Amino acid sequence: MTIVLLKNAPWIYTSNPADPLIKNGHVVVQSGRIAQIGRGDAPVIAGADEIDCSGCIVLPGFINLHHHFFQALTRALPGAHRAASSEWLVRHYPVWSEINADDLAAAVRNAAAELVLSGATTSADHAFILGGAGSQLPEAEVTAAAEIGLRLHLVRACLPNIGGDVEVRLRKLMGERLDALITPESGLVAQCRADVERWHDASHGSMLRMALGPSNLPYTKPQLLSDFAKIADETGCGLHAHYHPRQAERAQCRTLLGCEPIDFLERSGWLRPGAWFAHCTELDDGEIERFAATATGVAHCPRTVLRLGYHVPRIARMRASGTPVGVGVDGAASNDGGAFISDLRLALLLHRCREQHPLEGEQTWLTPEDALRMATSDAAAILGRDDIGSLRVGMCADLTAFNLSGVEYAGSLNDPLGGFLLAGVSARAATTIINGRVVVRDGTLATANEQALARATNAASMALLARTAVHLDQSS
Ligand SMILES: [Zn+2]
Repeated sequence: MTIVLLKNAPWIYTSNPADPLIKNGHVVVQSGRIAQIGRGDAPVIAGADEIDCSGCIVLPGFINLHHHFFQALTRALPGAHRAASSEWLVRHYPVWSEINADDLAAAVRNAAAELVLSGATTSADHAFILGGAGSQLPEAEVTAAAEIGLRLHLVRACLPNIGGDVEVRLRKLMGERLDALITPESGLVAQCRADVERWHDASHGSMLRMALGPSNLPYTKPQLLSDFAKIADETGCGLHAHYHPRQAERAQCRTLLGCEPIDFLERSGWLRPGAWFAHCTELDDGEIERFAATATGVAHCPRTVLRLGYHVPRIARMRASGTPVGVGVDGAASNDGGAFISDLRLALLLHRCREQHPLEGEQTWLTPEDALRMATSDAAAILGRDDIGSLRVGMCADLTAFNLSGVEYAGSLNDPLGGFLLAGVSARAATTIINGRVVVRDGTLATANEQALARATNAASMALLARTAVHLDQSS
């Protein structure tokens, strides 16, 4: 395998507490691993693929903890620009219900490309439209992500119910087609187990691991959570879902199950290492402590908070308690973008709007170093991985580099990491390497033709919206 040599790097932030910043250094990548990292001139290695990192900040590849790749086909959906959560779902579900395997493959390629171009090297995908027994969609997703070269944690997810007013409105709009959207119960758990057994690779350097979970907590089908936890016990796969129970949801849980949502999670075996939840905008102090005590993780998705009008989650409070917190871009329908570094920059700032309590004041606000750890080593721990998330000899060669030599960063280079996160607006990496493979070179996608890929995504999106236009018209 080709040796890759990153040389002339003025700043290498490692996320390794023993040696967090290497100035004027180099990295040698061999057989998919970091073979050497150090200060000074790079060694001369005949035949090596040399990448000049002059002017660049080199970082561990970012780890995105929450996404819905399929939503790349439904960005900026007409009629949903000002829609808050319920209305937004009513707008989108009829379109998502029509996504086929070819559509999904186009969306996955697009989302993966956008991630690697913005410095992410690993991503979870909470794919809750994969369907039930016999579905071809999981295979389409796995294949497409591998083409781009992304390290994938596929949440083989499902939509066991929708619930409440949204389901009533969708039934009116979609009629029997709604049944195709809600994942059939028959054979679902067996299919999830089969998919995990087929694809979950727990080995060092694994490019594909699996997790299970519903979209939201299934209060009317509570056994499902326990069934997934049992599979996780037996296979080592992860567990993942949205979790931000508002008052109506809490009341529903009390009525149906006689407990609070967090108790439902606990009794189902979902408060544990290897389980992580998106948003967590509604956690009170007691819930935060229970997440911390069980090493249950949080995926903070800052742009969705703004797009859908959620409460700002108490990120500093969570981190102070010991709750593991990482960052997710969330799906492109509630973000409209999918560039990881843009959302990491936002995560560094957004929580400050909420942390008004004297005990959660500015002394607890995230630093650039905190944000980098959340996106790298902390996120790796949430996914249960010790082979990614920092730059050390023997770790997987997942790296990204951004060029800081332009005017947008000028004046900030006395603190390159601070400047990168606070001053920068460009989301395009100069270099991204995953498992030793160069997937972005000179700011260009190296594993696919970006323009052709964008054209294919646009074609799939236009055709999908044309097929579902009747439902959009009726919901307006
Ligand atoms: Zn989500």
